[in-house]
Amino acid sequence: MSKYNFCAGPAMLPPAVMAKAQKEFVDWQNLGVSVMEISHRSRDFLALTEKCEASLRRLMNISDEFEILFMHGGGRGQFSAVPLNLHQAGKTAVYCENGVWSTGATTEAEKFTNVAAINVRNDSDELFSIKPVSEWQLPSDASYIHYCPNETIDGIEIFDVPSHPTAPIVADMSSTILSREIDVNQFDVIYAGAQKNIGPSGLAIVIIRKTLLEREGLAKPGIMDYALEARQGSMYNTPPTFAWYLAAEVFDWLEQSGGIKAMEEKNIAKAELLYEFIDNSPFYNNKVAKHCRSRMNVPFWLNDDSLNEAFLASARQAGLLALEGHRIVGGMRASIYNAMPLAGVQALVDFMAQFAKEHS
Ligand SMILES: *Cc1c(COP(=O)(O)O)cnc(C)c1O
Repeated sequence: MSKYNFCAGPAMLPPAVMAKAQKEFVDWQNLGVSVMEISHRSRDFLALTEKCEASLRRLMNISDEFEILFMHGGGRGQFSAVPLNLHQAGKTAVYCENGVWSTGATTEAEKFTNVAAINVRNDSDELFSIKPVSEWQLPSDASYIHYCPNETIDGIEIFDVPSHPTAPIVADMSSTILSREIDVNQFDVIYAGAQKNIGPSGLAIVIIRKTLLEREGLAKPGIMDYALEARQGSMYNTPPTFAWYLAAEVFDWLEQSGGIKAMEEKNIAKAELLYEFIDNSPFYNNKVAKHCRSRMNVPFWLNDDSLNEAFLASARQAGLLALEGHRIVGGMRASIYNAMPLAGVQALVDFMAQFAKEHS
């Protein structure tokens, strides 16, 4: 029986990448040792990092105006690094709040800098819904604007990009990076914890406009210093080398699979299949307005909550893993990142239909 892992993060990685990594585990490139056991400053590892960066630049069409950093500390590490690096004396950082993660970013930033949080939800809508970015009440002056294009827990995605005449736009793309085409030039900082669409947890990727590296910000730990990491090629200290290696393998796999456009088409097909089934079922529901439903994280509820345990137990038996919703929102959640094949979503829909039939 095929098993499908719907975990929100750390999430499944492409099976082809995992098989290759297994093959190379103890002997990488005929060196007789693992990629984990060589110096990060060795010629072989530096070649890997160069290849990795070039591949990401091609995939996301990232120009020379941006630096790419490979950092420690995952998504939340960046919740701290962003204010530490982008703070400006006398200015306020604007945090757009549209769900659990964007709100968490606000709380962390408040430790370091002056923050104005603005609610971009449409509270008049019965469903979870986000106001069009053109209606966000952004102040005329700010040190930067932070938002989260995909709220992993709430299952909300914002497809338009906010803009501002002077303040840089900072986006937490942890759970949507590489899932659809974006124009990187509309952003000033994009960051992502790796464990959803890139590789193992712990690694964070930061794509930052080079002009922003001149900002002094606040006193900060060296390993969170963007300018220092840029000067040091992300090797101020020993980077998470195995995670970096796997990220390079995932980027390779993405390029071989036709790149981001092809991946986006698959992701749309996967999401449509699941949402359409939920919308047409009297047994399940989703609480997010259609225009801002996440293509990566699909929360859903059984109309009869008392069947939750039975649902999860039968799903596990059917090889459908990690469908339990986040503890904050309850219900179920199917995370269907790049690595999840359409067949996995089809298996889930088939199971959900069967379960509904047996329990109606
Ligand atoms: C998972 C996630 C994070 C947190 O990542 P960690 O690596 O656990 O710190 C932050 N933001 C978003 C949108 C996420 O999905």
